[in-house]
Amino acid sequence: MLVDKKKYKEIVQELKPQNILLVAVSKTKSIEAIKELYALGQKDFGENYVQELGDKQALLPGDIRWHFIGHLQTNKVKYIAPFVHLIHGVDSLKLLKEINKQGKKCNRVIEVLLQIHIAREETKFGLDEEELSVIIKEIDAENGRENMKNVKIVGLMGMASFSYDVELIRQEFRFLKTLFDKYAALSTPNCQLQTLSMGMSSDYQKAIDEGSNLVRIGSLIFGSRNKE
Ligand SMILES: *Cc1c(COP(=O)(O)O)cnc(C)c1O
Repeated sequence: MLVDKKKYKEIVQELKPQNILLVAVSKTKSIEAIKELYALGQKDFGENYVQELGDKQALLPGDIRWHFIGHLQTNKVKYIAPFVHLIHGVDSLKLLKEINKQGKKCNRVIEVLLQIHIAREETKFGLDEEELSVIIKEIDAENGRENMKNVKIVGLMGMASFSYDVELIRQEFRFLKTLFDKYAALSTPNCQLQTLSMGMSSDYQKAIDEGSNLVRIGSLIFGSRNKE
């Protein structure tokens, strides 16, 4: 079995009434597995690698909404700009500018989430609160100079610590929700926070309790990954 259909349906039933978007994380999974889930009605899929995303997008139905959830390198934006639905992990002005530039080339406004560093681990990417505030100010100033019409910040994304400490995970999510609420109140033309992307297979229920409205779930639906 390529997809745990029972588990998938359970998750959908849990999320739907709460209006929470499920992004099925299909990285390393086959075209056939994605097709199985698509046949059940799933339209939002998440991928971490540019090459893999491009290859899959070319082979799969055009109405799939592709979410890029990995760490995006500036020189690779051009490969996904024509079709990507939402880029989750943006954490620099340089990257925002490149997304804007590539968006302009294909005449699109590309929606992005800013990634916030909430975990204790050093290895996870993301902005701290100060950097977030600077980027939001800068993009507004750039927009005033007519420079940033092809990128729009629509939310925040974060990953909690990989830990058994439930209270720590909750605190990290809670912190992100607080930032989200704070910056959602200050909406400007190309920064309007609506999406709060937090929660994966191991912690999505906690993320929802703390206010997530988009969860990124892979292994619970597709089984564990053998390569990464
Ligand atoms: C792989 C990945 C996920 C999904 O992880 P699971 O534990 O398999 O649900 C979610 N978010 C990001 C950013 C990922 O890289």
